[in-house]
Amino acid sequence: MRAYNFSAGPAALPTEVLQQAQAELLDFKDTGMSVMEMSHRGGVFMEVAREAERDFRELLNVPANYKVLFLQGGGKGEFSLVPLNLLRGKSRADYVNTGLWSSGAIKEAGKYCEAATIASSDDKKFTYVPPQDAWKPNKDAAFRHICTNETVHGVEYFWTPEIDDDVPLVADMSSHILSRPMDVSKYGCIYAGAQKNIGPSGLTIVIVREDLLGHAHPLTPSVFDYTQQAANDWMLNTPPTFAVYLAGLTFKWLKAQGGLSAIETKNIAKAKLLYDCIDNSGGFYRNEVAVENRSRMNVPFFLRDESLNAKFLETSLAANLAGLKGHKAIGGMRASVYNAISFEAVEALTQFMREFQQRNG
Ligand SMILES: *Cc1c(COP(=O)(O)O)cnc(C)c1O
Repeated sequence: MRAYNFSAGPAALPTEVLQQAQAELLDFKDTGMSVMEMSHRGGVFMEVAREAERDFRELLNVPANYKVLFLQGGGKGEFSLVPLNLLRGKSRADYVNTGLWSSGAIKEAGKYCEAATIASSDDKKFTYVPPQDAWKPNKDAAFRHICTNETVHGVEYFWTPEIDDDVPLVADMSSHILSRPMDVSKYGCIYAGAQKNIGPSGLTIVIVREDLLGHAHPLTPSVFDYTQQAANDWMLNTPPTFAVYLAGLTFKWLKAQGGLSAIETKNIAKAKLLYDCIDNSGGFYRNEVAVENRSRMNVPFFLRDESLNAKFLETSLAANLAGLKGHKAIGGMRASVYNAISFEAVEALTQFMREFQQRNG
């Protein structure tokens, strides 16, 4: 029996995607081998790769003047690769700090440049997004970096910063990419590890505007040089073929769901169900994030009586609800309700939460 899996990442994949992968695992398209066992340069895999990129571009409506790269190295890898590729000879970059992942990006960027924190929500334990009029941007910054969904703190941007000084906006969208339509044209670069809302780990997607290419630091490893990877259709070295294939199946699944507007409608309904359950618990459960910044993908919550935490986790698991333990940085619980999580799964979770409260409140 498949569990209702609320893991933050690697996270649940659509069952239909796994079933299709299972059905064609041993003999992919009459080749007599699995998709993992063939050359990445052969015609069969090339078609898998090109179709995955096409579907991704179509889903997110990526403008023609942007490259899409399917790379490796994860979100954390990008914390280094963004400065290496995008500093373009400059010595400073701007960062907005909204939680654990933007803090990580700032720390890593500090190896390569002056990573200036131009706004931070650490004054309120990272429970909100600082409004843009509170930012202190630097005109000479090479780029301005935000994390549009903080996976640990459960804080999401529902607005796109306006940039009026030619400093390109860079976004870590690892945990909410493809959860709703996004205006890619507002960004210079977007990156995301795949293992939250796309597919298995091992694949990292980078979207980068073409005019920003061509200036990587000379010590950038070639396989992590956006320009070289773009020139080689991201096949400068062997891409993570199985992860690309599975991501491609997920893109088809998303298209069959009706695309990103349709999935957004579902994600709104799921998030509302869960936040309503928390808010209507009379304080038994609580979420501390400013209402307008509550993430639709990652919902951290705390029990009023923390001595019940172990029991909550134990009994939820027994009820087939997995992956609810909060990140160790903030404790408590967290339910990640990515695209692959059904409304029914969130119903099962909220029903369990109400029953748990009745028995222990
Ligand atoms: C998970 C995550 C990362 C780190 O991803 P890795 O692939 O483990 O390096 C970075 N940023 C965000 C927003 C994340 O959710």
